[in-house]
Formats: sequence, C-alpha cells, structure tokens
Amino acid sequence: MKNYQNPKGTYDVSPEMAAKYQQLEGTLESLAHFYGYEEIRTPIFEDTGVFKRENDSSDMVNKEMYTFSMNGKDSFTLRPEGTAGVVRSYVQNKMYANADQPVKMYYYGPMFRHEHPQKGRYRQFEQFGIECIGAKSPMLDAEGIALGYSMIKTLGLSNVRVRINSLGDDESRKNYRAKLTEYFRPHAEELCADCKRRLEQNPLRILDCKVDADNPVMKDVPLISDSLNEPSKEYFREVLACLDALVIPYVIDPKLVRGLDYYTDTVFEVENITGKAGAQATVFAGGRYDGLVSYFGGPEVSGFGFAMGMERLILLAEDEGVKLDEKPKTDVYVMSLGNVGTKPLELATEARALGYITDFNYAPRSLKAQFKTVDRLDAKITVIAGESELAEGKVNIKNNRTKEQVTVSLEDYADTLDEMMEDILNETDSL
Ligand code: ATP
Ligand code: MG
Repeated sequence: MKNYQNPKGTYDVSPEMAAKYQQLEGTLESLAHFYGYEEIRTPIFEDTGVFKRENDSSDMVNKEMYTFSMNGKDSFTLRPEGTAGVVRSYVQNKMYANADQPVKMYYYGPMFRHEHPQKGRYRQFEQFGIECIGAKSPMLDAEGIALGYSMIKTLGLSNVRVRINSLGDDESRKNYRAKLTEYFRPHAEELCADCKRRLEQNPLRILDCKVDADNPVMKDVPLISDSLNEPSKEYFREVLACLDALVIPYVIDPKLVRGLDYYTDTVFEVENITGKAGAQATVFAGGRYDGLVSYFGGPEVSGFGFAMGMERLILLAEDEGVKLDEKPKTDVYVMSLGNVGTKPLELATEARALGYITDFNYAPRSLKAQFKTVDRLDAKITVIAGESELAEGKVNIKNNRTKEQVTVSLEDYADTLDEMMEDILNETDSL
C-alpha cells in the first residue's frame, strides 16, 4: 500500500473552502459582466511557444514553466498565466475583425509555475483575469484598474494600495534600457547571478529582482520617468487623470516594471498593505501590452489586462477578518418517522422545485438524532414525514423560528411551505 500526498505547492479545496471560492468567483464574475466583460476559456496547456516568446527574459518563462512532450517532438507547457492564451485565441479566431472593439474577456482557472512554495505562493494557483483587446485609450487602462479595485471593495476588503508606473512606448524603453545598461555595467560584479544575465538580456528585469531589491546599487538607479518621450508622458498623465476622476487612490512607483516582458505604457500592482503578507502582498497586477497581438500574427492593436490571485485574496480577507464563505443556509429539512418509503425524498424534491435549499433524512435514525441535524443545519422549516399522517394523506410542517407546527394535506404541502417561508422572511426583514 502506498500513501500518496498532493504534490508540493498544490492544495486540496475542501468543501468548506470551495464555498469561499464559489463566493469569490460569483462576485468577480458578476462585476466583470457589469463592466461588459464576457468569459473566455482557453486550454490549460498550449504550445510552449505561446508562453516562451523570442527574447523573453522573465523568470516565469525561463525558470518556472512546466513543459512536457509526449512524443519527443511537440513541446507543450501548462499555462503559467492567462494573457498569452487569450491573445493567441483573439488572433486565431480573428476576433480583431469583430465590429466592436475592444473585445472584453475574462477568464478564471488554474495556473502553474514551478516556484518555491510558501504562504500565498503555490505551484498550482487560481487566477481571475481580464483582457481588453483591440483598442488603446487611457480610459480603458483606468476602467480596468477600476474594475479590479471595485472587486476588492465589493468583497468588503479595504487594505489595498494601487502602485502605478509607465514603461512608455518602444522608443522610451529603448532609451531607458541604454541608460540602465550604462549605469549597471560598472556594477556588474555587485549583482546577483541572474541579474548579471539580465544586464545583457533585458536590464529592466534587474529592477524586478527580489534578491537585489535591497542592493545599494539600486539606490541611485536611473528612473524610467526621465526616459519617457513626450507622447508616453502624455498618455501616462491621462491615465492618472482618469484614475483621479474615478477617485481611485494610487501612488506612482517609478521603479515598478512588473515580471513579464510584454508590458508597454501602463503597469500597475495592487497590494495588501496590512504588512503581514510580505513578499506575497500583490493581490492583482497587470498593464498594457502593445506588441503582443501582432506577435501572434494579428494586427497592430493594443491590449490591457490584469490577473488576480485567488489565494492572495483569501489571505487578504483573513488579514482583515472578512468572511468570504457566508454559505446559503438550509431552508427546509425533511425528517422521517416510521416506515415512509421514498416519501422524504419526494417531499424534499418538491421543496427544491419551489426554490428552497433542502435536505432530508434517508436512513432510519432516532428522532433525537434528526432534530440535532435540523439544529446543526439551522433549517428554517422542518417537514416531518410520519407513517401514520402519511397514511391519511397528511404531513407535519414546523416553523423553526416560531416553533409553531401545522398538519396539512399533501395537496396543501407546497402552498403551506411558501406561506411559512414568507412569514419567516418577513420576520427576519423587520428585525
Ligand atoms: P509575484 O511578484 O508575487 O511573483 P507576479 O508578478 O509573478 O507576482 P503575476 O504574473 O502578475 O504575478 O500574476 C498576477 C497575480 O497572480 C499576482 O499578483 C498574485 O496575486 C498571483 N500569483 C502569481 N504567482 C502566484 C503563485 N505562485 N501563487 C499564488 N498566486 C500567485
Ligand atoms: Mg512571480
């Protein structure tokens, strides 16, 4: 016999945890719809090239991908993020030809990265993300951030802060890369091994390094804001003006570059500021990407998106003492007394058809045990299917709030349930 455990960096979602996830998904989905986003589902794995693009220097692509081949020829990768697959699909399905641009899509599901697992950092984790592809406007950047921000607020969370920066257009970034290379080259020996490689490949990445974050050479590093050309500066100013208009608080972080290579202009991160989350403080993050659609063979159109980590959201909720798992309570419980055959199941089914969350007793159990179940579930109404009453075509129904009980004919069962439930709900409202 072997005792298996779930792989390192993964976790089981228990039925209690599932309630939290469902609550989260429901809230995020309905807000996304509210902002005009519709769901897209792409494969969990793609051709490796979808994620590993030419010259990509990010850690995620170079160190963290689960890549496999079943025939020694084709290489596939478990998706480490959602954007690339969605953009691949946008191009493949010629969504750029839709009359209405941008196309606004959201996705939800597991992502895979081979990381060092810790609280809030897993190898399989869930992301909810949005992509708004096919148009470029500062209003769209601000609207995307506003959507994520309203998700956090709607969940009842408040301790977050938006950090924002602009990476500018191609020309601005080229300027900046040259300045960074010039600055870091004399300090190459003081950088970590990865940053030495980044210096040659993409010096912007050095600013995102967690190892060198406190390295003294970082102190006087040139800032991108000094390398932005006038159009890039103007775009950034407009994004900030939109955020001001939407009353979304933010801080400009001139060193924010983000971990993926495809960003242009706006980049942002929204972090937990309770101080307990440490390096896992970022709850959602994203930005604009100008070159990704054309990279996949589509037209020169821009996109904007963000991804939100569900585990981080749950951590934030725990930090703030916000409950995400207010499970809907059982409305009706059907007890059985004596030899009543399949009647409890039938009565439960009828109650469910009326829209009530219902459960029933299916095996012979003492009345005491059944009443305990009713208490535990905190059911609003108890239906008692008794052998002798049923023989006369009747059933007992009890209002658990007032403790009043009535005996009614089976024909009146549904109406009585409805009336009783209405009384109970009115009573609760007036409290
Ligand atoms: P970090 O800097 O924390 O590694 P990242 O920049 O790699 O984050 P993104 O690729 O922007 O993260 O992903 C967006 C969001 O997904 C993050 O803000 C975070 O909430 C979540 N996330 C990313 N990686 C993980 C992971 N390994 N486990 C759990 N959540 C994650
Ligand atoms: Mg990361």
